[in-house]
Amino acid sequence: MKNVKTLIEALKSFYNQETISYPIGEWPGKKYSNIPETLRGKPIIDEEKCIGCEACYNACSAFTIKFFEDGNERKYNIDINKCVFCGRCEDVCPEDAIKLSNEFELTHFPERKEEKRYVKWIKLLKDCKNCGEKFAAIDQINKIHERISLNINPKVSEEALKDYEIYSNYCPKCRKILSYKIGINPTKYYLRLGRG
Ligand code: SF4
Ligand code: SF4
Repeated sequence: MKNVKTLIEALKSFYNQETISYPIGEWPGKKYSNIPETLRGKPIIDEEKCIGCEACYNACSAFTIKFFEDGNERKYNIDINKCVFCGRCEDVCPEDAIKLSNEFELTHFPERKEEKRYVKWIKLLKDCKNCGEKFAAIDQINKIHERISLNINPKVSEEALKDYEIYSNYCPKCRKILSYKIGINPTKYYLRLGRG
């Protein structure tokens, strides 16, 4: 008797939907989602917004954000298999360039490892006018220029920007060595702003 009942239920399910699709679907005729809006899934990167400041790299609690330099490029990657989805990278990014998405189906076959396992992006680097060493992402240098022009006291901004344009052509080591020769002394702006 029990088997007959089971058979009838099984036959009914051919004509009526007995289960719902997971985690998103339509029931009955209405779209639904069981994915919470606050879900912390795979980090995604907006390469255009990223300035290559490395704040996410320094803040990553699982040490899974890595980068290496290749010619005039700095190549970043996040290994999703090691990510703990803590959201620290999103919290510290000054440009809102990295965000945790609601993508959570992250298992993959080995042949799709590169595409599914890693989040990758690239930033172009600037080389030092004196020694040729690549020292910072070009986008980061440009962003600092923009911030100075917006935030510094207008009385000194023109002069400070001119100095920054010279200063930003050199790596930190050459800036120190050549500071007298290239005539850069950023502390002069502090004095004029009354900060001692
Ligand atoms: S979510 Fe956390 S563990 Fe994952 S990449 Fe960002 S900082 Fe690192
Ligand atoms: S701009 Fe954001 S995503 Fe890009 S390196 Fe800095 S913290 Fe990371």
